[in-house]
Amino acid sequence: MNTAIVLAGGKGKRMKSDIPKQFMELKGEPLLCHSLRVFQNSPIIDEIVVVTSPDYISYVKEEIVIKNAFDKVKHITSGGGERYDSVYEGLKCVESPGYVFIHDGARPCVTDKIISDCYDAVRKFDACVAAVPVKDTIKVSDSEGMAVNTPDRSRLWQIQTPQVFDVNLVKECYKKMYSVSDKSDITDDAMVVERYGNKKIKLVNADYRNIKVTTPEDIEIAASFLK
Ligand code: C5P
Repeated sequence: MNTAIVLAGGKGKRMKSDIPKQFMELKGEPLLCHSLRVFQNSPIIDEIVVVTSPDYISYVKEEIVIKNAFDKVKHITSGGGERYDSVYEGLKCVESPGYVFIHDGARPCVTDKIISDCYDAVRKFDACVAAVPVKDTIKVSDSEGMAVNTPDRSRLWQIQTPQVFDVNLVKECYKKMYSVSDKSDITDDAMVVERYGNKKIKLVNADYRNIKVTTPEDIEIAASFLK
């Protein structure tokens, strides 16, 4: 069984909009519809879990899932304060063994190819993430904003989603994380599996267009990619 957890529980503070970014209009419909449709239409995905904030559960159900006949959506569940809290709530809805594709609802330009390349990798490595090699030079700064070093660019990747794992592996890792107190530095699922699963993560060369809509100009960029 292959399940997609599509995350739509964020507040999108950087978007400076009253509506969370995953529900902003993109090409005539809520942004989340675009991400969900790719998983709905993927032959690899059997079921979808949508995680959103309690205030948006009925909106997601009526205006997005029912309206678009996204019949692979089996659960619409409440998320938590941080992205990892929302992932944990989503994982609680995944009962069958298999693979889970954890995806930011705010990445509407995900493609079939990314999903199938990740599927190939996860069957081999148990854990993989969509990623792209960085194009710019990256510098690490000190607290005063002064550059302190320049990591070797040829080894640097920007991490995207989906992040795909064996279901039992990722559930065990999340459970372990919740049994310790400090989760503050966790920014993606791969970190949880690296830290608590002692597992190497395969980086899957994905697509520069698979952006996370974060600031207002990203809506226009995503719209141009979706043309
Ligand atoms: O905030 P950020 O850009 O990292 O969010 C990435 C994805 O995770 C978005 O799709 C957002 O809706 C989701 N998220 C969530 N629950 C949170 C925070 C973010 O589902 N508490």
